[in-house]
Amino acid sequence: MTNILIIYTGGTIGMITNPGTGALMPFNFEQITENVPELRRLDYKLTVHSFDPLIDSSNMDPEVWIGIARLIEKEYGHFDGFVILHGSDTMAFTASALSFMLEGLQKPVVLTGSQLPINQIRTDAKENLITALEIAAAKQEGKAIVPEVCIYFDYQLFRGNRTIKYNSTNFDAFRSPNYPKLAEAGVYLKYNDKVILQHGLTKLTVHTNLSRSVGVLKLYPGINNNIVEAVLSTDCSAVIMETFGAGNTSTQAWFIRLLKNAIDSGKIILDISQCKVGSVELGRYETSKQLKEIGVTSGFDLTFEAAVTKLMFLLGSGKSEKEVMELLETDLRGEITKLII
Ligand code: ASP
Repeated sequence: MTNILIIYTGGTIGMITNPGTGALMPFNFEQITENVPELRRLDYKLTVHSFDPLIDSSNMDPEVWIGIARLIEKEYGHFDGFVILHGSDTMAFTASALSFMLEGLQKPVVLTGSQLPINQIRTDAKENLITALEIAAAKQEGKAIVPEVCIYFDYQLFRGNRTIKYNSTNFDAFRSPNYPKLAEAGVYLKYNDKVILQHGLTKLTVHTNLSRSVGVLKLYPGINNNIVEAVLSTDCSAVIMETFGAGNTSTQAWFIRLLKNAIDSGKIILDISQCKVGSVELGRYETSKQLKEIGVTSGFDLTFEAAVTKLMFLLGSGKSEKEVMELLETDLRGEITKLII
């Protein structure tokens, strides 16, 4: 019999209304099973591990990612697949982080949740949960069909580290702007085999050292010297710079000088675009040529979520600054499509 471990971290899926405040808060797993009697009709053995405390995912923290990764490591041999119930707000961060932490994964780790609690009549939670379980259990010739960390939401399966939360109101809350869907659910569950991650690794290696030494500089026309200087002088090892278009920035001398000083002092500057679709192409425009020359690292088409968690993972790995910079520009878990220009 197929064995699935459900890891319940919280999120709207299991929330009820707090009678005192009227606000939604996470509740225990029993209320999920009570509302989905269909679970008993599945052909799988389901085991539940609830985190304590259950959280709204806006309170997510790398410590919880470490807890999830260690749990999967401990239970890896006992289960065919894993379903993580999680709030949608930071689900893309957790999925991205786990993709880097679980190297050589050969079993599905499917994150899902919902926009409406499971006890509400129009809820999207039941379909999300039931199909996520089906994906976690799916095998062909004894092998998992989707051996990667992914997000299932509103009839679509996405690679976790390519996904962003795009819509806070509609049921189709997620998008994967730079990578095709791994599967779509309709009358049939149609897997897009060609885009599902393939790797030659046969052993799971779990990485649990995550660094928090990551800063963010979001550019806008008119940003001033003091603000750029304040962010770049923060005590952190890397700064994600959210740039314009294909990775472009102002070419003003003061701006380039501040970036160069930060790089010369040992900070990594990772360039990702504020555009959701497309890639950073350092050197395509005059406005990014100098960035390449002073040693800015290209994030290509990384999502912000994948950029933050890839840095946390690489900076925590104990590798040298040069190796981290090289690995940032290397596709490790299907998170980037490298543009060669
Ligand atoms: N605030 C909730 C959370 O992320 C939203 C959700 O679950 O969809 O936990």
